Amino acid sequence: MKANFSSSSFARAMAPPHTKVAIIGSGPAAHTAAIYLSRAELKPVLYEGMLAGGTAAGGQLTTTTDVENYPGFPQGIGGPELMDQMRAQSERFGTEIITETISRVDLKSRPFRLWREYEDAESDEPAHTADAVIIATGANARRLHLPGEAEYWQNGVSACAVCDGAVPIFRQKPLVVIGGGDSAAEEAMFLTKYGSHVTVLVRRDKLRASKAMAKRLLANPKVTVKFNTVAVEIQGENKPRGLMTHLKVKNVVTNAEEVMDANGLFYAVGHDPATALFKGQVDRDEDGYIVTKPGTSYTSLPGVFAAGDVQDKRYRQAITSAGSGCIAALEAEKYLAELEDDGELELEKDKQVKKGDLQNGTNVPEYRSNPLL
Ligand code: FAD
Repeated sequence: MKANFSSSSFARAMAPPHTKVAIIGSGPAAHTAAIYLSRAELKPVLYEGMLAGGTAAGGQLTTTTDVENYPGFPQGIGGPELMDQMRAQSERFGTEIITETISRVDLKSRPFRLWREYEDAESDEPAHTADAVIIATGANARRLHLPGEAEYWQNGVSACAVCDGAVPIFRQKPLVVIGGGDSAAEEAMFLTKYGSHVTVLVRRDKLRASKAMAKRLLANPKVTVKFNTVAVEIQGENKPRGLMTHLKVKNVVTNAEEVMDANGLFYAVGHDPATALFKGQVDRDEDGYIVTKPGTSYTSLPGVFAAGDVQDKRYRQAITSAGSGCIAALEAEKYLAELEDDGELELEKDKQVKKGDLQNGTNVPEYRSNPLL
């Protein structure tokens, strides 16, 4: 961890430290943005959070064991280890990482102003000011906090079928999905590739999924949908790192309970994007996700960029988050270059040099024109 800033009155009496670009968050999106920006010598400051929203610095992957679908690790890699490596890579190029949660932002003034949790929330003086901000605060998969959930989390219980469905403990085993929306239907159908059978538990007497999706789900011979049914208790092996083996469920109409064979339980009951902090300042959609211009990290505010799960409710993967972190870094860099008085001139000069080089027959690769790469 790099040096923090004192909250003493002496420190507050001075102007807050200023950075060209502040990154809020610490998952793959935040660290990818930090790697690109620090390599471009823009000296980003990254607030990684102190158990922000209940998740450790490093984000959602710190809550999982093996990550098998992140390229470059043919044998898989532990989630916390992958995030440690990303953090080390951010630091290697000079990112200043601050282990604090940002609790308040003012994105209406220029430069932008950021306050830290506890120390600065009530102070008028922000902890940092920044010319550009990248929001990469992620999202949290909702959990049901059922009895047995903590014991069997990642040992049968998961909140991500795409991430975990292929692991050996689920192969040719009975699996259960909880949820009645499109995500639950998609996850259940995805899991039919791996499990022997998939049961979908729906609390109400009908699916919320779109008609087409519901039709496909109900027609799938490897899927049973149990309506009016909720999970009551997760059961399994009674030993350290024991695996889930059964699920007790209850019919909410008859109150009848039964214990089903189940080696996997997948929650598909929604995600909560960590965006309360930005309410009223940056446009969010009806589910609270930051709205970005498709294919970019541009938010409703110039100079404020969003990357990762905080703006993506469809893919929600480490690799897509990392990709969007890269996009945010490139777009923030362009924005900062344009802010500088002679920034556009510099860019024009760069283009001219490139054109001249090409006319002289010098082979200048396209990507070299981008100062971040
Ligand atoms: P997140 O990982 O969500 O991290 C954001 C972090 O920012 C927060 O956790 C917090 O530490 C910090 N933060 C939040 N608010 C603040 C604040 N105000 N101030 C400072 N810091 C803050 N994906 C895969 O590709 N493969 C997998 O195998 C896989 N397995 C998964 C297993 C589980 C159990 C879960 C829950 C998810 C899994 N995913 C997997 C999905 C993947 O973890 C996410 O898509 C990815 O982590 C999203 O990255 P992100 O950068 O958007 O932010």
